[in-house]
Amino acid sequence: MTQTADSANDRSPQAVLEDAFSRFAPDRIAISFSGAEDVVLIDMAAQLVDELQVFSLDTGRLHPETYTFIEQVREHYGVDIEVLMPDPEEVNEMVRKKGLFSFYRDGHQECCAIRKIQPLRKKLATLDAWITGQRRDQSVTRTEVPQWQDDQAFGTAERPLVKVNPLAGWSSAQVWQYIRNEQVPYNPLHDRGFLSIGCEPCTRAVGPHEHERAGRWWWEEATRKECGLHAENLAAETQSVRIIE
Ligand code: SF4
Repeated sequence: MTQTADSANDRSPQAVLEDAFSRFAPDRIAISFSGAEDVVLIDMAAQLVDELQVFSLDTGRLHPETYTFIEQVREHYGVDIEVLMPDPEEVNEMVRKKGLFSFYRDGHQECCAIRKIQPLRKKLATLDAWITGQRRDQSVTRTEVPQWQDDQAFGTAERPLVKVNPLAGWSSAQVWQYIRNEQVPYNPLHDRGFLSIGCEPCTRAVGPHEHERAGRWWWEEATRKECGLHAENLAAETQSVRIIE
């Protein structure tokens, strides 16, 4: 099932989405929504199918603008967006022991695992396939992302899971051309220098010529900038480096 990352053989994002929606029942496939790419996918998917399942991770640490943006997308496309939240007891325990900003001291993995990965894992256990906005040129950890892959981080031999990345071969410029041409809603933080937007304490605006993910976990090295949503990118990219978006 897993393809190789090959721009020459990439299909159009719409063709990939059409294929995905024809293979999986509407209640078994969902779009993971957080960034600009994901709204492009929602825009394309809304033109292909009537029943669209969309979820978003609310870590409790998002920018106010992001919460407003989620509601804007919900209203613009008339789609239900399932907002996934972390287990409050696990968050309480971590914060009680280590405070609200432990990620600056000992890395983002533990906090991301509680606030993102566990809610995501529960959701993915109800699906056969999920659709993401990953692109190969987003970071050094994503250069080998194919359009279609077995998700080895969240799937198992008994319960395989497919991860579909229709925009794998698109550049940031193509994404933004689509957003402008089709008047797709986008997070207003993008107009203030934020290129890749995550949680408020772990995201900052980037300067001219900085890489688009340079503003994510800026205190950590580039090869570790995955939060675990796409953990297989770490293994593929750097066999010797353990990383967890
Ligand atoms: S991005 Fe930062 S605040 Fe958000 S879950 Fe990860 S470590 Fe925690």
